[in-house]
Amino acid sequence: MARGGYSLRVDSYMYNRRQSARHNNLRWHCTWYHKGCTAVVVTTKDYKVVKFVHEHSHEPPRTYTACGVTFYSR
Ligand SMILES: [Zn+2]
Repeated sequence: MARGGYSLRVDSYMYNRRQSARHNNLRWHCTWYHKGCTAVVVTTKDYKVVKFVHEHSHEPPRTYTACGVTFYSR
């Protein structure tokens, strides 16, 4: 897998892992983060969710692109 190419799927939404990890936690931003969506998931290194802001500014995407690869949600 490509470096840093980790992703997390919740419902039909896709999150990409951010490199910056504070307090040893991992931050996952919605793939629409760069389009202004503020939904975010914070997990521990063991992928236990410690924070989950599941408020999207958009409908679930039918397709999404992560690390140059387009995925289909259904
Ligand atoms: Zn979103």
